Amino acid sequence: MEKRNLSISTQNKLILLGLVISTLLIVGLAVFAITNIQQKISEVYSGFGEILTKTLAIESVEITKDVQEFDKFSTLQAHTKSIMDSNNEIAFIEFQNDKNEVIYSSKKDFPNRAKQALITSSSQLLADNADGIKINIGKVIVGLSGGATKDISHATKNSMLVVFTVAWLVFTFVILINTILITRELSMLHHGVKKISTGAFGYTLDDKNTSGEIKDLINAFNDMSLRLHQYEEKNVDQLTLERNKFEAVLMSIVNGVVVCDNYDNVVLVNNAAKKMLEVEDEQILNTKIQMYCDTDGELCFKEKIEQFKDTPLDIMENKPLEFNIEVGDKILKCVISPMFSKNQDYVGYVIVLIDVTKEVEIDKMKSNFISNVSHELRTPVTVLRTYIDTLYNHSDDFDEKTNKEFFEVINKEAARLQKMVNDILDFSRLEAGNVKVEKEMTNIVPVIEQEIKCMQVLAEEKNITFSIIKEPNLPDIPINVDSIERALNNLLSNAIKYSPENGRIKVRAELAKDPAYVEISVEDQGCGIPEEHQKKIFERFYRVENDTHTVKGTGLGLHLVKITIEKHHQGEVFVKSKPGDGSTFGFRLPINPVENVEE
Ligand code: ADP
Repeated sequence: MEKRNLSISTQNKLILLGLVISTLLIVGLAVFAITNIQQKISEVYSGFGEILTKTLAIESVEITKDVQEFDKFSTLQAHTKSIMDSNNEIAFIEFQNDKNEVIYSSKKDFPNRAKQALITSSSQLLADNADGIKINIGKVIVGLSGGATKDISHATKNSMLVVFTVAWLVFTFVILINTILITRELSMLHHGVKKISTGAFGYTLDDKNTSGEIKDLINAFNDMSLRLHQYEEKNVDQLTLERNKFEAVLMSIVNGVVVCDNYDNVVLVNNAAKKMLEVEDEQILNTKIQMYCDTDGELCFKEKIEQFKDTPLDIMENKPLEFNIEVGDKILKCVISPMFSKNQDYVGYVIVLIDVTKEVEIDKMKSNFISNVSHELRTPVTVLRTYIDTLYNHSDDFDEKTNKEFFEVINKEAARLQKMVNDILDFSRLEAGNVKVEKEMTNIVPVIEQEIKCMQVLAEEKNITFSIIKEPNLPDIPINVDSIERALNNLLSNAIKYSPENGRIKVRAELAKDPAYVEISVEDQGCGIPEEHQKKIFERFYRVENDTHTVKGTGLGLHLVKITIEKHHQGEVFVKSKPGDGSTFGFRLPINPVENVEE
């Protein structure tokens, strides 16, 4: 959430400062104007007092000039009274003779004369003597109460105060209104800019109630926003296209790809990776890769990612970190390499996942093969050496029957050795892929009968009996007799090998369900093969290793049968088996194969 700033903004500070300064200015102006007006009023008032005094002096001399001496006082008194009655401003009038003695004084009945008579002015009383020369006969002093000035200055002060207060209020109001308007427009702009910053390009502001520079600013903002919108649309199309291309490539890669950012969050994962890691988008996207658990619930990436991060980047770049993890029944090889931006900044890492289940299995099988072959070779070689050594040194001590028995064992072991060597040689020959297989139209039944005959000796050792079920009038098929013989030999010797004593082996030669094929099968009553092994049994080096399958071998026999039948004869091999009940191995050969396969 946005943190609200409670301190006064610079703009508000300026407004407050402006208000204070304008208030001070207005108050100062008001004080100056009022003082000035009061001074002027006092000056005018003093002038009025002087004129009044002078007029009174002249009038008083004039009215008493022709009056008898004893009437002078009453005349002056009557005149003074009429003047004082007609003018409220006069506080007192005093007449003095030329010796400054008061000859007459009249005052209004104010409680405090001094207070009332704020301004006093005096004027000489000048009269003509017998020669017509003006002489000073005394003076008149007039005291003015100053009530008018007080009233005027009071009224002026009040009206000035009203005027300036109103002016100040109007000024403040205008400033406030202006501020509110500007703030409203600014906050409108602020809102708009915020919208743009969140990616809402094309957002426009309403310029209806605005004018002047703010209107220009809003128009410029709207223009900018629309341009950004157009630019974005153009770019988004371009980017979407690029991204679609990139995603299509990424998604169609057979290897798994997991992209993590600098904080170990998974930002991209392709279909192959999801399948390999057995996860959906929502389970892995935006989660830390270290948190991924394999099927045993182990954090299989955690340690390796830490090791990756602890290693300098240049080392990781040249020699990415490789390790294997197990997910379900798959073995995945993981390769972690750092990821850089165009500017060579480290932005995360890419994990490439490669399904190496088969390779690891083959590696395992290869090492098993070597140990099996060595074991298989050691037994006949040891037997042969012992028997030959015995015969060489003691043949004269044995009768003919014992010698014959010795030779029989030597012969059997030599045959076993030969078969094994042949298997290995065939395997390397067939794997090399440059075998030429000549075929001729052959009736397969005699070939089968001949092979069974060859196996008879081996079968008799375990008291195993053969039965042949052959369909009459089987068509001739194009085969390479030698290689088909070897294939039959492998199936028959396996059937004998894995059958119990006194077992029975059924060999069938018939038309397959699809009449375009001839089907040959060998059924035994042996230990059988569990379902999960049946799919893999024809793979090279594959052997079933458990309690019931204790017989040693190379794991090549069935693979050679498969190559002979499927690669060289365009047929197909099959197996049906139930553990404990026995197995049926066989193959189907086409009567009219399409010869287009490289031999
Ligand atoms: P090997 O030399 O080990 O016999 P094969 O390729 O001939 O090699 O056979 C592969 C595996 O298939 C054997 O190890 C064995 O476990 C199993 N197998 C082959 N034939 C039979 C059978 N008739 N009955 C039971 N298991 C068999």
